[in-house]
Amino acid sequence: MVEATFVVIGGGIAGVSCAEGIAFLAPEEPVILISASPTVKKVTNVRNLTKMLSRFDVEEQPGRKVFESCPNVTVVHDTVTHLDHENNNLTLSSGTVVKYGKLCVCTGARPKLIAPDNPHVLGIRDTDSVVEFQRRLSSSRRVVVVGNGGIATELVHETSNVQIVWVIKDKHISATFVDPGAAEFFQEKLNKKKDDDDSPVVKRMKFSVDRGATSASSGAALGPDWHANVRLSGLSTDDVTVEKCCEVSHVHEGDDEWPVYVELTNGKRVGCDLIVSATGVQPNVEPFGAAGARIADVDGGLIVDWAMRTTLPNIYAAGDVCSADWQKAPHWFQMRLWTQARHMGTYAAKAMVYDNQSEPFLQDFAFELFTHVTKLFGMKVVLLGLFNGQTLNDEYEILLRMTRGQEYVKLILKNGRLQGAVLIGDTDLEEMCENLILNQLDLTPFGEDLLNPDIDIEDYFD
Ligand code: FAD
Repeated sequence: MVEATFVVIGGGIAGVSCAEGIAFLAPEEPVILISASPTVKKVTNVRNLTKMLSRFDVEEQPGRKVFESCPNVTVVHDTVTHLDHENNNLTLSSGTVVKYGKLCVCTGARPKLIAPDNPHVLGIRDTDSVVEFQRRLSSSRRVVVVGNGGIATELVHETSNVQIVWVIKDKHISATFVDPGAAEFFQEKLNKKKDDDDSPVVKRMKFSVDRGATSASSGAALGPDWHANVRLSGLSTDDVTVEKCCEVSHVHEGDDEWPVYVELTNGKRVGCDLIVSATGVQPNVEPFGAAGARIADVDGGLIVDWAMRTTLPNIYAAGDVCSADWQKAPHWFQMRLWTQARHMGTYAAKAMVYDNQSEPFLQDFAFELFTHVTKLFGMKVVLLGLFNGQTLNDEYEILLRMTRGQEYVKLILKNGRLQGAVLIGDTDLEEMCENLILNQLDLTPFGEDLLNPDIDIEDYFD
């Protein structure tokens, strides 16, 4: 048996941030980090774009290297198979028993696959799955991509020399992050030559929408720019067909022409070499659910309170595996993203150390405002607050400014006060928007001038 005051499970961004946080706050206490993956994820090059919006790189490194400056952290490469919360111990697949004082579960999530047992269906989650995708893509003429979130969007944009049939259940592309207007903006972008690609690849989007149709433990998740060093190229020419408002109803065996077929709810049957299923994730809650930790009905995550505590004593959770179940600030909500995995991991460390010392603490200000910065179709995208009008029940106004191919700015206002923003391109508006959402200033006097490019609104707020 081995023992430590603090034990963290998971070598993803949440687990590593948590172990680093504990090492910083309680350098004298022993910490064990258990990871099923041989390498762990380290956040590097943090750039703060505003007070609350940051960008960073993620490097995969051997656990020992990441924690070489933290002598109190021991990294164990193994898988947790059993939790005995009454005796505060874990059993690993090697048979080792680990006793903990406080435990943080950061086991992430895995892709929810359509037809998981079909060998032609692939989910993208970790480096191994990207390598596998790259290998199979190189001999593919046509790929069906299912899903409408960030991963599907990036795959469609980054993949070349292959026919893509993109199956989305919404009326417009990239619906997880953007509204129909921004999707239209990106559609034009996708028609053009990719800015960041040396090869003369031109994407052509062909929308074939049935108007009447309606929608009926692995490695750590990848970090930002996961595709940057991988050439994703197939055997054919570029062509993207978007099948909107539909889902895959069946996956059928192949024939001489195609190895596999998908049947869509709009009645179409599409033959392809490979199906990429990017339809969301399923939190890795076992064996903690079986041990009695409460699971959220809404998303299958481990329920945590404002201090990242699960419903079991001395057990916390952070990152993709957890489901935030507290009275949320008006402009924050949970989305399974690397920024939130990092904030939650760091904050769980604080909660564990302070609880261990029986000291009071306040919730971190990172949970005051939803922030996310990413790239879609090669463009910078900043999402702030209730960027899609979330929780506002359609009771809001929109201020919009768009310059074709350059920028798309959407502000969400309620009662004259800024609730959220979508900033695409180099708008330089993120700081102003962040401040206006946080301070809830009445913007009625500015009217539409708020987005007038000839007026420097920031001068008013200095
Ligand atoms: P994970 O990174 O999944 O780490 C979980 C860890 O737990 C792993 O080390 C695993 O080995 C370990 N583990 C699991 N079970 C056990 C067990 N029983 N015992 C021991 N160890 C265990 N987010 C963004 O913000 N921007 C993006 O552009 C973006 N792109 C993405 C692209 C892809 C292809 C994917 C898959 C995700 C993307 N995400 C993106 C989401 C983001 O990567 C995740 O939200 C984040 O990495 C979650 O971190 P985590 O530490 O909670 O979990």
